[in-house]
Amino acid sequence: MLVDMLNQHISEAYGRSKKPSCKTTLAKEGESIAFHKPSTIWSGIKLALAEVLPRTHWIIGNGKTIDLWRDCWLHGQSLQHIMNLSSDILKGCIATLDMIIHNDEWRIPKELQFLLDEHGIDLHSLEKPNSSAADERVWTPELRGNFTVKSAFVEIRSTLATTCWSRVVWKNSIHPQLSAIAWKLVYKCATTQESMKKKEVQLTSRCCVCRCNSEDLDHLLWNCGFVHDLWKWIADKFQVEATFASFTEAINMGTCLSPRLRDLWLFAVLGGVMLTNASLSKSFSNLQDKDVLNNWGIERKLRRAPRIQPCWWTLPDNGVLKLNTDGASKGNHGPAVVGVSARNSGGSFEFVYCRNIGVTTSYVSECIAILEGIEIAVSKGYTAIWVESDSKVVAAAYNTKNIP
Ligand SMILES: [Zn+2]
Repeated sequence: MLVDMLNQHISEAYGRSKKPSCKTTLAKEGESIAFHKPSTIWSGIKLALAEVLPRTHWIIGNGKTIDLWRDCWLHGQSLQHIMNLSSDILKGCIATLDMIIHNDEWRIPKELQFLLDEHGIDLHSLEKPNSSAADERVWTPELRGNFTVKSAFVEIRSTLATTCWSRVVWKNSIHPQLSAIAWKLVYKCATTQESMKKKEVQLTSRCCVCRCNSEDLDHLLWNCGFVHDLWKWIADKFQVEATFASFTEAINMGTCLSPRLRDLWLFAVLGGVMLTNASLSKSFSNLQDKDVLNNWGIERKLRRAPRIQPCWWTLPDNGVLKLNTDGASKGNHGPAVVGVSARNSGGSFEFVYCRNIGVTTSYVSECIAILEGIEIAVSKGYTAIWVESDSKVVAAAYNTKNIP
């Protein structure tokens, strides 16, 4: 294997042995031991390392502590990742980065240069190594690069929303008997032939509907041919795609529907469609809902016609600049932007300004919009400035001098 040969070449050329020097294992009491001692925490550490290491990168100093293949020293990535090398291929490869550094310059063997060229990597785009400094590992998620267990936990933990099934299943509009069945099904507590087999009941499991697969809950609810047709029929009626294979996916499918249809969709998914108007969401239906509601024989409530309300924008006095500012974020925290338009007493634009401000809350972005608008106006020589913002909270914050 090219990588292995190359590693050997690097190790031999620079006088390093291929095998790492054997370290003596010490017992708790400090005495050296020669036998194997299983660790109860090492498997946990290994799991955490797999998550933590890819989130670190190296600032190259003398390169002595950086693993040439596995560590992230190439713009936050490792050679292993860029070249898509498996751990098996890299077994025994222990070359460190200082082996390709000479007098603070890159000295790359031909074979490695070939591999780098093949992947479009130019080491000269990196900062030059500095043999007088030690390598420094940086924890990427923190601004200062310091590792803390807290930030690692926040980074690694799964933040996916979990479905609160009690709120989904137990509704006034669904008959308790149906809710009870749905409750068992979402928690997979229903008795199937497969679950009985697990309790050591001797039987041959076979789906009683299609008679060609074993009978477990996933098959009965989502994979059986008959059930497929049934879901497709229901999905067609709602004009959605039947591409779901779990309760969560099926219910999420309904999020694209209007609130009124969403309730109806939920009932359909949980196993009982209640065709009564009273049980449905009180919100009004739109024209797109017409066909679906007609299909289920439900009468439509139409949305109220929109009302047009008067609203005025007043010109500023002579010599005064009027700023209209706005800030918005997609989610709270989320990617945020600010925008400012500035007009003079004649109503003509002095400047218009907008920019992305990274990830923050809508409140902070409203505040930044005002601050940056005023900064630009002052830099253009205006001293009398009138700021109009659409955020009552931010206006109150500025008026009471409580700006974050
Ligand atoms: Zn089946």
